[in-house]
Amino acid sequence: MANRVYNFSAGPAVLPEKVLQQAADEMLDYQGCGMSVMELSHRSTIYQKIIDDAEAGLRKLMDIPENYKVLFLQGGASLQFLMVPMNLGINKKADFVNTGEWSTKAIKEAKKFGMDVNVVATSEDTTFNTFPEIDAGKIRKDADYFHITSNNTIYGTKCMNVPKLDIPVVADMSSNIMSEKFDVRDYGIIYAGAQKNIGPAGVVIVIIREDLVGKISGIPTMLDYKTHVDKGSMFNTPPTYGIYIAKLVFDHMLSMGGVAYYEELNKKKAALIYDAIDNSKLFKAHVKPGKDRSLMNIPFFTDSDEINKKFLKEAEANGLVTLKGHRSVGGMRASVYNAMPIEGCQKLADFIKKFDQENS
Ligand SMILES: *Cc1c(COP(=O)(O)O)cnc(C)c1O
Repeated sequence: MANRVYNFSAGPAVLPEKVLQQAADEMLDYQGCGMSVMELSHRSTIYQKIIDDAEAGLRKLMDIPENYKVLFLQGGASLQFLMVPMNLGINKKADFVNTGEWSTKAIKEAKKFGMDVNVVATSEDTTFNTFPEIDAGKIRKDADYFHITSNNTIYGTKCMNVPKLDIPVVADMSSNIMSEKFDVRDYGIIYAGAQKNIGPAGVVIVIIREDLVGKISGIPTMLDYKTHVDKGSMFNTPPTYGIYIAKLVFDHMLSMGGVAYYEELNKKKAALIYDAIDNSKLFKAHVKPGKDRSLMNIPFFTDSDEINKKFLKEAEANGLVTLKGHRSVGGMRASVYNAMPIEGCQKLADFIKKFDQENS
């Protein structure tokens, strides 16, 4: 038996143990073809079925309507910071909510591309510890799109209620895709790097409404959504193994009861940890209780760097690893994506309580 720890990494992150086991079982001989999925031609019938099944699984999980395309691309969420303005930027205007480092990077990239950027709301003055109210009246009617980061991996805030607009809403859902139910129809484009809630690094998923594909001509081939839509994500060699693991994750999620199951579980999981923090003397969460709190990433800290260090060291000795906070916030951060078992959250909550009693 492998000696597994509870891995609270923000990404690449924990994957379902059942999926890892299945991948191991299928490593040398995938379904009788005598080779691993890594060695399969992406043009083979057997691989085509893997990518088709991956898409079908995701469509089912997220209830993706027919008029949306699903793409498996490379370049991470970070390349989407450029591809979105390139493909949608007819008026060269985009409106953003700035809720942390990832939105800031998306804004910077849009500006580099020559977009006129309007920041509609931000919580920068309070170190992004809230998700700011969005006043739809401030969003320009002639903006090409309105961009939101639905979950802020570093600061631990989230928002899944986007305003209904006449312009497309674009969401970076890298760190909370499929963590709770929401309506794909409220968005023009959803993108998410796989390495948080889906699978291994190297795949980025793009869900795009049909009418937003091919609006602008002359885009360099690999950066044009139309290229990848026309070729079913197979214009060039896709990240074949990563897509296969994503397919296994989708199958596993469906067998557990889909997004509704994970939403309920995620609420319980996050509550265990937030409660332990809120009821302690030593610890404070970066984000106040309420609707802004992320279910996926929980940054917290004590007043002392020394105690933070001691906490991290003792947690690690107890099999609770990768809890160090992002350098811009400091302290600790527990990332509890879909694949983190509730037992891991309970163990962390118990450890927080014990550490608090012993050190306060
Ligand atoms: C991790 C993350 C990114 C960056 O993803 P890459 O795949 O590394 O480019 C972007 N946005 C959010 C919200 C993230 O959590």
